[in-house]
Amino acid sequence: MGCFGSSCLTVNKMLETYLDQAEKLIKSGDTRQLYYAAFELRLAIEKHVYEKLTFFSKRYGEKLLYENWQPNKALKVLCQLEPYADQSYTLSVAHEKEIGVPGNNFIELGHHKALSISWISKHYNKIGSYLHLQAKSQIQLEIPLQYLQEILFELRNIDESDLIMSFPDTVSFNCPLCKTQITCSTLALPHLEKVICISMNCNATFIPKKTEERWSFKLNAVDFECPECSNIQPILIDEIQIGSRITCTICKKRSIVVGNTWRTVKESINKELNMMR
Ligand SMILES: [Zn+2]
Ligand SMILES: [Zn+2]
Repeated sequence: MGCFGSSCLTVNKMLETYLDQAEKLIKSGDTRQLYYAAFELRLAIEKHVYEKLTFFSKRYGEKLLYENWQPNKALKVLCQLEPYADQSYTLSVAHEKEIGVPGNNFIELGHHKALSISWISKHYNKIGSYLHLQAKSQIQLEIPLQYLQEILFELRNIDESDLIMSFPDTVSFNCPLCKTQITCSTLALPHLEKVICISMNCNATFIPKKTEERWSFKLNAVDFECPECSNIQPILIDEIQIGSRITCTICKKRSIVVGNTWRTVKESINKELNMMR
């Protein structure tokens, strides 16, 4: 099958092991086995989401994988970057008659089938609720056989997907704090309040803004002026709290944030005050 560079991958039957096992348990006729079938179905949902994250993390970094481990949360972050990642569609191409005008002879490249965020949020939690004892009654809820059959049918359907792809219209910039390259989808950007740095060790966030067809990304920070040497450096707003310490990158003197006005004083002054008390 034709592909666009590295941004497209053919996939199929990735959930088969879990779904076959679930089906066997559902058909066993033993109601106790339905709990184990539910467990297999839950694993299949996790597999579906994590396979997507593995594919997209090549572009967006591993922060997606490790900081958003719950399937529904992880998929939410992913969809901020890839707005079509949780939608089902068929991909077709045709030669253009002229620039911008598609011809009639479309060739089908593949089907992308995915679980939507709302579907995952609802059913991942609902299936999970059968796998615990109820706190008060200390019994497990009975699983309706038909419910599990419906989930199995839905997961079999999306497992027929033969395409996972990334829409390549992106914009990139380097984080000024850690120098990591951050890439965002231009389709997702209009819906984002902030963009996060994908580096695992960096907490930088940015406010995206479009002016005359160009995207700019303002670091969510305030300027800190060193009281010792007057050097000005950015401090992330999320990291400013009363009592947090700031080290000047030039003179290495440390300051401490006091009051809710974000005024900074030299730490040595504060130490002297503490000793006098
Ligand atoms: Zn960064
Ligand atoms: Zn300084």
